[in-house]
Amino acid sequence: MKTQKTLAITDGMTGLYNHRYFLERINEEFERTRRYKRSLSLIMIDVDHFKKYNDTHGHQKGDEILKRVTKILKDTVRKSDTIARYGGEEFIIIFPETGGKEALSVAEKLRMEVEAHDFPGGETQPLGRITISQGVASCKEELKSFDELIKNADNALYRAKEEGRNRVCT
Ligand code: GH3
Ligand code: MG
Ligand code: MG
Repeated sequence: MKTQKTLAITDGMTGLYNHRYFLERINEEFERTRRYKRSLSLIMIDVDHFKKYNDTHGHQKGDEILKRVTKILKDTVRKSDTIARYGGEEFIIIFPETGGKEALSVAEKLRMEVEAHDFPGGETQPLGRITISQGVASCKEELKSFDELIKNADNALYRAKEEGRNRVCT
């Protein structure tokens, strides 16, 4: 049985934390990182050409892809990292005590795990497989709020898309 509290902070389909919980956590982590001069990184993840997948295979098969991606994320990152469903086919992960270099290597690992996974129907995708693009951002002295950290990850993700997808940008 899921408690009311669990239902309020998780996403029904993937079981991951929801956007609202993510905002609470990033706020706390950002403040803590600031106060104790620790490191903190974020990875924003977006499934490539997902609309195409839905259009070809249907929304229900699309949901299956999101569940499989969820499993890969869970199996790859540490328990102390927070994974949330940020939007439709977007995920975000908070990495406390983690610098940019380390976060970048986790993102690259995630990219390879997804690329190597044999998703049903992946061959009809423009890149011939289901892939993800990612934006990595880390806490720096000059950042005024966690919004800026999210914005940096979002900008990096945008660049990863522009540069051809199935890649990581910082
Ligand atoms: P890009 O590589 O630029 O990210 O292309 P894209 O097609 O993934 O991007 P776009 O934002 O145009 O499309 C996202 C699609 O994700 C459209 C929407 O229907 C689908 N989507 C969002 N949430 C869900 C969901 O919960 N289940 C399914 N099956 N599809 C979803
Ligand atoms: Mg998207
Ligand atoms: Mg997408």
